[in-house]
Amino acid sequence: MIGERVRLAREACLLTQQELAQSVGAPLSAIADVEVGRVHNPSAELISGIASVTSFPLGFFKQGALPHLPEGHYRRLKRGTARVSKQVRAQVRQILELVEKAEATVSLPPVKITPAHGGLTSIGIEEIAERVRRELGFNDREPITNLIRAAERAGVVVVRLPGKLEDHDGFSVWPEFGLGGRPIVALGSTQSGDRDRHTVAHELGHLVLHTLRSGFSTDEAETEAHRFAGALVLPRRAAVEAMRSPLTLGVLMSVKAHYGASLSMGSRRALDLGLIDRSHFVSLQKQLAKRGWRSDEPVRVDVETPVLIDKILRALGGSGSAVDRAERLGLPLFAFRSLLASSG
Ligand SMILES: [Zn+2]
Repeated sequence: MIGERVRLAREACLLTQQELAQSVGAPLSAIADVEVGRVHNPSAELISGIASVTSFPLGFFKQGALPHLPEGHYRRLKRGTARVSKQVRAQVRQILELVEKAEATVSLPPVKITPAHGGLTSIGIEEIAERVRRELGFNDREPITNLIRAAERAGVVVVRLPGKLEDHDGFSVWPEFGLGGRPIVALGSTQSGDRDRHTVAHELGHLVLHTLRSGFSTDEAETEAHRFAGALVLPRRAAVEAMRSPLTLGVLMSVKAHYGASLSMGSRRALDLGLIDRSHFVSLQKQLAKRGWRSDEPVRVDVETPVLIDKILRALGGSGSAVDRAERLGLPLFAFRSLLASSG
């Protein structure tokens, strides 16, 4: 049990076993033996060395078994490095442990989104997105002004992980599905309001489309999650009404101001729904590129901040100084501060 906690702390800090061993002044085998469970009772000196190098409170290493974290979904899996994936998984696993503890003592909103099953067409994805909009409390036309808040009200825990998730925009996982488990969406530090919305919508797509279904490739899953994200943020009926021809950048900008859908999402939506043909789509992409808007779009969309995780951390962390509360939660101080700061 202590082995998986050592591994979690090490991976959360992006360290290899070798690097951790060097930093604590122990042989590589000492770390490896603890992690694989060959050694169950490592010396207090070794553990306090690991605690100090990783900034995890000593108490973290003295708790019981960690919850199991299923595979989960990454936005931009292909570009992500294995080390960063492990870091994200380690951080989310620790958050999962806190969420599970909170279920007993904090009143958290019941999970209202439901996963789809069976084969899917793109029309099917449009319909599922409309159903999820209803589960979030929105009809098939109104803008979802704050998507993170809507997801939280539907029982999804959204967190911003400390630091930047290099190569990753987001990660989602639905542990213990069917056994009362709660879906979790993790974001890196903010890029822009519209980009974050896209990531949250995309991860909700994975949670709904890929929790129960199987037999799809990573590429297929990505395409489906993107289609879902567009349909969630800018539903079919609204898109058809708002994007009458001729579709210009000006129209896309007003759609963005109203629905929080980026210009790139809006133009993709118009193509997916057959509102424009491919040559029109390509022309819009060229116009975006010419203005430098592919990397830096005009029309600001407010950045959304999670609040449910804040409630969980405050309930479990009790009162006192940040150091005391972080220690009670088993979180490194910087992680505690960053999780709280991200929730305003
Ligand atoms: Zn994805």
